[in-house]
Amino acid sequence: MENQMEKIISLAKRRGFVFQGSEIYGGFAGTYDYGPLGVAMHRNVVDIWMGAMRQHDNIAFLDSSIFTAPRVWEASGHVSGFSDPLVVCNACHTKHRADQLLEAIGIQADEKMSDPEINKLFDANRKKLICPMCGKKDFGQVSAKSLLATSTLGAFEQGDQLVYLRGETAQGIFINYKNVLETGFYSVPFGIAQVGKVFRNEISPRQFLFRQREFEQMEMQYFVRPKDAPAAYETWKEERMNYYDILGVKKEKLRWKQHEHLVFYAKDAWDIEYEYPFGWGELEGVHYRGDYDLTQHQKFSGVDMSFYDEKTKERYIPHVVETSVGVDRTILMLLVGAYYEDEMNGEKRVVLRFAPRIAPIKVAVFPLVSNKENIVAKAREVYKSLKLSMLHISSFMIVWDDNGNIGKRYRRQDEIGTPWCVTIDYQTLEDNTVTIRDRDTGKQKRHKIEALDEYFKKMLA
Ligand code: ATP
Repeated sequence: MENQMEKIISLAKRRGFVFQGSEIYGGFAGTYDYGPLGVAMHRNVVDIWMGAMRQHDNIAFLDSSIFTAPRVWEASGHVSGFSDPLVVCNACHTKHRADQLLEAIGIQADEKMSDPEINKLFDANRKKLICPMCGKKDFGQVSAKSLLATSTLGAFEQGDQLVYLRGETAQGIFINYKNVLETGFYSVPFGIAQVGKVFRNEISPRQFLFRQREFEQMEMQYFVRPKDAPAAYETWKEERMNYYDILGVKKEKLRWKQHEHLVFYAKDAWDIEYEYPFGWGELEGVHYRGDYDLTQHQKFSGVDMSFYDEKTKERYIPHVVETSVGVDRTILMLLVGAYYEDEMNGEKRVVLRFAPRIAPIKVAVFPLVSNKENIVAKAREVYKSLKLSMLHISSFMIVWDDNGNIGKRYRRQDEIGTPWCVTIDYQTLEDNTVTIRDRDTGKQKRHKIEALDEYFKKMLA
């Protein structure tokens, strides 16, 4: 299965989905760059998530800044409590996450355990713990390492305070909760959704897009009357799991996992896990954060965060149900789930069986032969008019390919997950029909040119 990851990483690079960050300088750990196809896929993933949030009339969108006043992260508890357990190998000086070393030998541990708790567990198992880098059994003490990344933005002189890059988008939402309420368009219960970059000083970034130091989150914080919060939590849990149907994710590849050790802000926390080639891993967190965040910001900022409920005549600080999923972990899941090696017409092929809405390119247009002027001209005409008539659907990426024989062009499109290839041939010149070839079955059918846009709109609906 690890082999599958290597194949996916190599395909992602070769065809322009994802490149290693700063590759020409030997890379920069925990960063990746999205290439041409990756950008298109990334946008599709975000659009679908935003579309799902838009189904709710009471969800507002926000785009808050990456940098905030440092007090935000003091209030949220991240400055003192947002850390991972670091342990260094004395022999080769590699830095590891203590919980991951323990898990690797079958001992249940997680990064949210308290400092004494994980040190005790680590000490009890010291004799069995081997450094994966050098094979020695010689580790130092476990210490909590802050995940917050700092920057000198706005700091010019010695003594000026460093600022934090946001470690989650959620805090931008909490500090704007009042602003959104005061626009008058929303009232509790309501949600604020945001998509944006997040930075974390992960001790050991690894597994490709799964654990990065710079990544993107799609988060929604739902503000609700305290009494109604448990019911809202259950509803959101159900909705978020069902959501993955839209992305074409197989049900048996997803499961729920409850947190044993709750982070400082949570009242209850469940993760949706996906079975990646390296094992089950968190894809999305659906957490019940109670009134922790708003109360903390009220305390630190002095601004009243309470809400007067006209319906129930109560004043309260709303409770928060959070849904938080990584764009990059979603993309990795979709690449992994779509990757197949099969045979078509006696030829081996690699195919990405993306759901059409996920596919970066929706349609490739080919002239059957590239040396017949009338066929090429007709194909250009079809390509241009289809592009124009689908202009209003921004995710409708269409490409032209006249390079090599038709078989090769199909293979190229299969490998990047293009669901449909349209070919203009000799018959097109007689009856204005083209062939549409389906990526998964390889079957072709003839279709009238004038109804092509309707056809693709229907297929994408
Ligand atoms: P993990 O336990 O894997 O470190 P987490 O519990 O810290 O994850 P959250 O803080 O709940 O993660 O963040 C919400 C979502 O953000 C995760 O479900 C995941 O999809 C994504 N995410 C978190 N950390 C990373 C990372 N280092 N790289 C890529 N995506 C991440």
